Amino acid sequence: MKYPEKIYKTVKEYYENMANVRKLKQSNRISEVHEKIPQIAEADREISMLAVKFTRSLAAGSDAVENVKIFREECDRINAFKKELLLKNGYSEDYLDEEISCTLCNDAGFYDGKMCQCFENRIIEEIRKNSNLPLVMDKQSFDTFNLNYYSDEGNPSPRLIMGAVKSMCEDYAQNFSDESPNLLFYGGTGLGKTFLSSCIAKKVMDKGASVFYQSAYKIFSMFDKIKFDDEKDELVKFHTDNAYDVDLLVIDDLGTEFITSYTAEVLFDLINTRFNSGKKTIINTNLGPEELEKIYSARITSRLFGDYMPIEFYGNDIRRIKQSENL
Ligand SMILES: [Zn+2]
Repeated sequence: MKYPEKIYKTVKEYYENMANVRKLKQSNRISEVHEKIPQIAEADREISMLAVKFTRSLAAGSDAVENVKIFREECDRINAFKKELLLKNGYSEDYLDEEISCTLCNDAGFYDGKMCQCFENRIIEEIRKNSNLPLVMDKQSFDTFNLNYYSDEGNPSPRLIMGAVKSMCEDYAQNFSDESPNLLFYGGTGLGKTFLSSCIAKKVMDKGASVFYQSAYKIFSMFDKIKFDDEKDELVKFHTDNAYDVDLLVIDDLGTEFITSYTAEVLFDLINTRFNSGKKTIINTNLGPEELEKIYSARITSRLFGDYMPIEFYGNDIRRIKQSENL
């Protein structure tokens, strides 16, 4: 998978910083122990002298194999002695070792010329940080989506319909691929559109795809900023590029932004370009098809209803139900 260059660089720097932090921590511990246990300081000096002796005798042309063997045995003996001293003085025996969290790559991020899983996980985490998911995200998952908020009256009842919508969303996230359709979630406020699209975004990200989640209002403000700002803000530029490049873009609350001919143009270009390059988009809107058509041009709405799978959300405003429950 190709990761954004900027994210890759950030993670690479993180590994370099962590290596420095580990080295510093280790050297602080060595100083501390040398002060408290002079015998260990002595043992370390002995190892350094052995190393000097070893390289000298190699340079003088003595038997390398035999020399390595002797050197190793001596070091093992001294190290065992050091561990004994550490334990005797109330330290753990690995107190002076570098603290490594990934035994696969020894925290280098790479091994055998390939990227370690720990490095990839950190990239995914970084992508998550850059995806602007709502802060409440971490509490939201398909498991916490409560169907009891939807009425079971009527045939089919909102609860039954929304149960099916939830299953569809779970399935979508689980099998997210080039073949996945674009989705248009529509219906009144507080019916779970943001919740379910967040759940999809999170799951898709966990699978290693890049995701950008943002309200329409914020997305178009960023494009405005890029257009009218002479000094282009690098992070804003990253986000607007991201909106085009990510595997999954979620535009929340379409229809609440301030619409100008420029934003309409950006919206069309964005959904059109993404459609042509096979990138997936999910759009949430409180507006129905007719209302959408009133505020956006026909070419936008026909694209939305032609190329997106429209999914209508049913029920009563959950936010209001939750608020009255908390009173
Ligand atoms: Zn690793």
